[in-house]
Amino acid sequence: MAQLTAASLQLAYDHRVVVEDLDLTLPEGKVTMIVGANGSGKSTLLRGLSRLLPPQRGQVRLDGTDIHSLRGKELARRLGLLPQAPLAPDGVTVRELVTRGRYPHQGLFPQWTDQDEQAVAEALALTRTDELSGRMLDELSGGQRQRVWIAMALAQRTDVLLLDEPTTYLDVTHQLEVLDVVRELNRTRGTTVGIVLHDLQLAARYADHLVAVRGGAIHSQGAPADVITADMVREVFALEALIAPDPVTGTPMVLPLGREGASPRVPEEDPMTPAAAALESTAAPRADLASTAVPALEASPQLAFPLTVAARHMVGANLLRLTLTGPDLHHLGVGGPLLDVRIKLIIPAPDAREDHLAALRPDALAEPAAFEGWYRGWLQVDPAERGWMRTYSIREWRGAGHPGNLGPHPELDIDMVLHLEEPAVPGSGVAARWAAAAQVGDPITLLGPNARLVGPDYGGIEFRPGTARRVLLAGDETALPAICAVLETLPESFTGHALIEVPDAADAQRILTRSDVEVSWLPRGDAPHGTLLDPAVRTLLDERPELCAECSVGVPHEPGDFEEVDIDSTILWETTEGHGPFYAWLAGEAGVITGLRRHLVKELGVDRKQVSFMGYWRKGRAEG
Ligand SMILES: Cc1cc2nc3c(=O)[nH]c(=O)nc-3n(C[C@H](O)[C@H](O)[C@H](O)COP(=O)(O)OP(=O)(O)OC[C@H]3O[C@@H](n4cnc5c(N)ncnc54)[C@H](O)[C@@H]3O)c2cc1C
Repeated sequence: MAQLTAASLQLAYDHRVVVEDLDLTLPEGKVTMIVGANGSGKSTLLRGLSRLLPPQRGQVRLDGTDIHSLRGKELARRLGLLPQAPLAPDGVTVRELVTRGRYPHQGLFPQWTDQDEQAVAEALALTRTDELSGRMLDELSGGQRQRVWIAMALAQRTDVLLLDEPTTYLDVTHQLEVLDVVRELNRTRGTTVGIVLHDLQLAARYADHLVAVRGGAIHSQGAPADVITADMVREVFALEALIAPDPVTGTPMVLPLGREGASPRVPEEDPMTPAAAALESTAAPRADLASTAVPALEASPQLAFPLTVAARHMVGANLLRLTLTGPDLHHLGVGGPLLDVRIKLIIPAPDAREDHLAALRPDALAEPAAFEGWYRGWLQVDPAERGWMRTYSIREWRGAGHPGNLGPHPELDIDMVLHLEEPAVPGSGVAARWAAAAQVGDPITLLGPNARLVGPDYGGIEFRPGTARRVLLAGDETALPAICAVLETLPESFTGHALIEVPDAADAQRILTRSDVEVSWLPRGDAPHGTLLDPAVRTLLDERPELCAECSVGVPHEPGDFEEVDIDSTILWETTEGHGPFYAWLAGEAGVITGLRRHLVKELGVDRKQVSFMGYWRKGRAEG
């Protein structure tokens, strides 16, 4: 059992204070329901209690420890949050989503244990989603989906569970079902539960402790029978009502008589910020926005970080290192090592008049739909106006205060290949040309993962060796930054080979790795792309067959077992979560990578489940 306490808590969006000087304890092992009118600050309070919103003043303590002093995973092992309208990754099954609840319990290179299996099975059973476990999440009804989200939170097995409006959009049967599950969990495991609920009747039925919130402060709290009075309903909800005992449960029942003339003296939250104002010009009218807008930080898995170039220097004959920094950069992250995480740079357009990524700025407030539909909208805009999106890896990340970082904010390095051929068509080669001309102080937008919302399962990371400890990393100069970043993260237990083809011997970099992975640089000079990488991979696997001895080498796939990739229409992208002792990660020019895939999979019969193939770019074709 655990106790969550807020002391002198002040929560605000920018300068707009929503919760002020609030003291609250969620009683240990009990179900607490937080109720209040729209705009009363109840959801904001839950965000503050779960660390989604850092307090301006005061503290939230979990069993006496300030939650902001706990590491992300440690907190996630002890406190679970189910936000309103959580966003599911595309194409996941019920079981896959529920297993994500176990990530806080796993180390850098996850190993699935019996305990994980048991936690998932129990969560599926408690929520009666076990028979749905093989179904795709997006095929399910709203009620079923909500039960799956709750199963994920249960699989996390935390001592405290917070839920924000878990019954919204559900019919009454499913509302009861969801609340029954949560109460059963509380009764059987002693989980301390905090729920924000707009339905006073249901709150009264299921609460051990009820908290009525008005204007960002606690109006009253205690047992439902003590809190739910006609006066409280009038003052908190501006509603005249009779209170009678519920004939089924005996808990107080609210019988509305009509709305009081005056509106509740609670100001509606006014979420307008400059960024939201920019969005307003292209999106919802202000009245709608003000009623349902949410902070991008709390709802958008991707954020558009406004950064500036802090430094530039060549790190070889063909690679330029740009150091980018910005005050919001601490919001970028995946809750674990960044490995080969991909980010997007938005190369500025000369004619830009408007911020087309306003809704994704870290300080933005926008309609939830804006966080899902922004890319479709962005594609509709003329590139000469909105700019160009290009994909890069993060070569190195340095937090504020890191010895190599002299500035006040976090910073990151991007190593960009300067391929400066004449542009074939307008918009071609924009990233390389922008980088070549970039000066310290120049602005640039980086689109990357929102540390508050994504975890180590983030889809932008492809290096997933699973249980493998013997690896092969092979790529060209565009994959060099990702390979170096991965090697600099790997622990001692990893062995294997990294083969990196670069244009020039001077492009080789010093790599500080604790692993036993052997690095070979392959300078190709004027020879065509892939000239050295392809034979080097073949030779390595021919000469050292023991490297992937357990991945069916020598058992070529049957005809029909292997789909040939049409390199003219497809950029090869075939990734996997490794299993077994060997894992290969191959990235670079798509034609070269396709050739390697053919060799490994078709000729050597390597198990495709142990190799990730990624076409990072394609000769003769601009990205996008
Ligand atoms: C996940 C991922 C991570 C990546 N990480 C990095 C990284 O860290 N550093 C990096 O430099 N690149 C990286 N790339 C590759 C980068 O996205 C492409 O090189 C991109 O096309 C560059 O954009 P551009 O505007 O300069 O050229 P585009 O407009 O996309 O292409 C213009 C022309 O240049 C050619 N071209 C593109 N890239 C190259 C190249 N490298 N060498 C020679 N010709 C080229 C194209 O074939 C096309 O003909 C990564 C790609 C992916 C998918």
